[in-house]
Amino acid sequence: MDNNEMKLTIKSLSENEIFARSVVASFCVGLNPTIEEIGDIKTAVSEAVTNCVVHAYPDRVGYIDIFVSIFENTVTIKIQDYGVGIADIKKAMQPFFTSKPYNERSGMGFTVMEGFMDKVEVTSQVNGGTCVVMTKEICAKDVKVGG
Ligand code: ATP
Ligand code: MG
Repeated sequence: MDNNEMKLTIKSLSENEIFARSVVASFCVGLNPTIEEIGDIKTAVSEAVTNCVVHAYPDRVGYIDIFVSIFENTVTIKIQDYGVGIADIKKAMQPFFTSKPYNERSGMGFTVMEGFMDKVEVTSQVNGGTCVVMTKEICAKDVKVGG
């Protein structure tokens, strides 16, 4: 299969999170994922987009760029914001670390992304923004979404 790509820009409004995860999941249907694999991708996108809404732009609305690339049976999802950035990425990615404990955050977003995707890479610049790149290989299976 040739590679395929899509780009989506959304505002950092919480209602756009469901839209974003549905668009990415729909784009991946061409890989014949299982329902479980689609669920994993939706959850990971949801966590990354929610982080942009909640953390990247804490007191303003900004833009979130989402790039998805499919090559053979691997999907790469890049979620980029231009917000406050992360000073210590290693610390931020530790399970249960949250900078907003008073805000019903559990600090498990990155851990969930890492659990559901094969690889998660984060780069960030303070006051420049954060980029989360996640990849997942979709395994060939007999039972497919949509038969
Ligand atoms: P949860 O995802 O469980 O609701 P959380 O968002 O705090 O809680 P993570 O998603 O693991 O947990 O993120 C950990 C921390 O990394 C956040 O508390 C925040 O400080 C920082 N962070 C994550 N994403 C971004 C981002 N896009 N921009 C700025 N900071 C971020
Ligand atoms: Mg989070």
